[in-house]
Amino acid sequence: APERELLRIVIVGHVDHGKSTLVGRLLHETGSLPDGKLEMLKEVSARRGMPFEWSFLLDALQTERDQGITVDTSQIRFKTAKRDYVLIDAPGHVEFLRNMVTGAAQADAAVLLVDAGEGVREQTRRHAFLLHLLGLRQVTVVVNKMDRVAFGQEAFAAIEEDVSAYLGGFGLRPTFVIPVSARDGDFISERTARLPWYSGPTVIEALDAFTAPPSLSDQPLRFPIQAVYKFDERRILAGRIESGRLSVGDELAFEPSGATARVKSIEAWPGPAPASVEAGQSVGITLDKDIFVTRGDIAAHGDQRPRAAKSLKVRLFWLDDAPLKAGDPVIVRLSTAAAPGVVSAVTSAVDPANLVTEGQASLGRNHVGEVEITLRQALPADPYHLNAFTGRVVVERERRICGGGIILHAAREARLEA
Ligand code: GDP
Repeated sequence: APERELLRIVIVGHVDHGKSTLVGRLLHETGSLPDGKLEMLKEVSARRGMPFEWSFLLDALQTERDQGITVDTSQIRFKTAKRDYVLIDAPGHVEFLRNMVTGAAQADAAVLLVDAGEGVREQTRRHAFLLHLLGLRQVTVVVNKMDRVAFGQEAFAAIEEDVSAYLGGFGLRPTFVIPVSARDGDFISERTARLPWYSGPTVIEALDAFTAPPSLSDQPLRFPIQAVYKFDERRILAGRIESGRLSVGDELAFEPSGATARVKSIEAWPGPAPASVEAGQSVGITLDKDIFVTRGDIAAHGDQRPRAAKSLKVRLFWLDDAPLKAGDPVIVRLSTAAAPGVVSAVTSAVDPANLVTEGQASLGRNHVGEVEITLRQALPADPYHLNAFTGRVVVERERRICGGGIILHAAREARLEA
């Protein structure tokens, strides 16, 4: 069966505007809840004489998760007829930010929730700014609790205008702005009669309208070499295919050296040698020529190779107490490769807690910034939007991991230091 498409989404918004309620609804209406779970929770609520809240559902799932009862619910999943979804948790902001900025758990799209009765609030703005800061381009706005404003079109239009203007300030245009009642189930998956003036999509339809990234196997080949073994007379290059596909006979280019050779064989242990392998598989290959290859090299197809980069522009999340400054020596790790370098500039720095933009000289702890790094040795790099694997780096200073981030730009030339 063909692999189902996967989209990772994050739901953000001011506290109490209805995130948990929306998530509970989405799980319910896509049939993603364990049998009887909802009924059980409703019963418990009734017995305790308290109104049922959709957020109980998430609490219950979280508890099971903590107790290790359910398997693989580290992230909440649901599916529509079109594809699978993973909800990326945004529990503590720092953790969420770190995951997003380092590319550890990047969302492909976002839902920004606004309470119809309260409108755009401080946290709404903050979250919208973060989406922009994190480079998320696909955002749908959900105006929740329409029941609180008697499903009024004017109240909705005012919020739509407000939030669109704010997002527009960052060059972000919401794909849709949808009036809903998450609690009651209006326009989550069902078009109810309570919003007769609204003709746009439901939330589920809007999610399905987001563009998904190509599957890992359909992306350009990135095969990092973890080890080179001599075996009898043969030399075997071992590693894991991180993206793309590789077949016997393919001409490969090894970066950063740029040397090329053809795949003579694919080795498999145990079992017969396959003619081709794809993302996620660990393999060994032999080549038709004895070129120089070492751990840390990345094999790619010649016309789609990563850049042997001597300078990087990185969006970095900084973890260390001592701020990062221009002139700091660092080691940049990318996949199995590492190279020494120096920070040539900190071009921006933001404290996500208060959105205060700092002076551009340094990047403080738990802050997000853009930095330029000049490398003493080339690293096989990609901008993150082209490849998530060769687009992520870890930054060490004084032998400690101090930051992580994604590559915004990779250049062959080391920039002249000012
Ligand atoms: P979160 O903090 O964003 O996760 O918000 P919750 O999902 O916990 O919702 C906060 C409160 O808003 C809860 O009491 C919900 O029952 C209530 N709520 C959520 N959706 C709706 C809605 O569509 N209409 C109304 N009237 N209340 C809602």
